[in-house]
Amino acid sequence: MTVFSYSYFETRQHRQRLTSWLLGTSDPTGVRPGHTPAMHRIWDISPPVGTESPVFPGDTPYSQAWSATITEACPVNVSRITFSPHVGAHADAPLHYDGQGEAIGALDLAPYLGPCRVIHAIGKGPLITREHIAHALRDLPARVLVRTCERAPVERWDPNLVSFAAEAIEQLAALGVRLVGIDTASIDPAESKELPSHQAIRRLGLRVLENLVLDDVPEGDYELIALPLKLMTADASPVRAVLRELQPASRSGASS
Ligand SMILES: [Zn+2]
Repeated sequence: MTVFSYSYFETRQHRQRLTSWLLGTSDPTGVRPGHTPAMHRIWDISPPVGTESPVFPGDTPYSQAWSATITEACPVNVSRITFSPHVGAHADAPLHYDGQGEAIGALDLAPYLGPCRVIHAIGKGPLITREHIAHALRDLPARVLVRTCERAPVERWDPNLVSFAAEAIEQLAALGVRLVGIDTASIDPAESKELPSHQAIRRLGLRVLENLVLDDVPEGDYELIALPLKLMTADASPVRAVLRELQPASRSGASS
């Protein structure tokens, strides 16, 4: 009933909590009158998705057509889009690398949301090994994204993409990691048929994000937000992946 929802937010405390939530502040006491809240910086780590987006050779590129367009008789534009769920930043489901695996919409969302470390292994390819990430494994959160390049190739297919050595995946899993991500199109070499890193995450129950853009992200800890769509039969899903800083930056003009 509307009466209930209106009265729920009627108290000052509830209004403050709602404002705090909308502003992205984690201050449980809410926002004080006249106080400018510190904002958590956000890094968009998703490439643009469109007809120029690269795809694995033979995979389905992005295309779009119009089912309806605005005219005197029609008040809206409505498109239809076709593309592989591996275009752009995406999460692979077990169904992608296991005939009996779960579809993406059936997965628990917890691995895709929470504390995350970005580790730099720039120019270390073609395989990221344990040695390349060894400097950043202390007190590891459950999510690890590895930046392998200065600039992710968001407009061309890279046949020499950098990927993980399975031993690096195994080490991260042993340290409690539940999700790994990379700024290339795959965690295995493009020409690989055995897919040892995909098989490692299948065996160890890890989740994976691919095609991230970590160009502007310093090494360090963040909050990851990269939720897959609830596609109940698909082998992967696009995600809008972002990193949010853990400690809000102090802003000039903010009162204490
Ligand atoms: Zn994929």
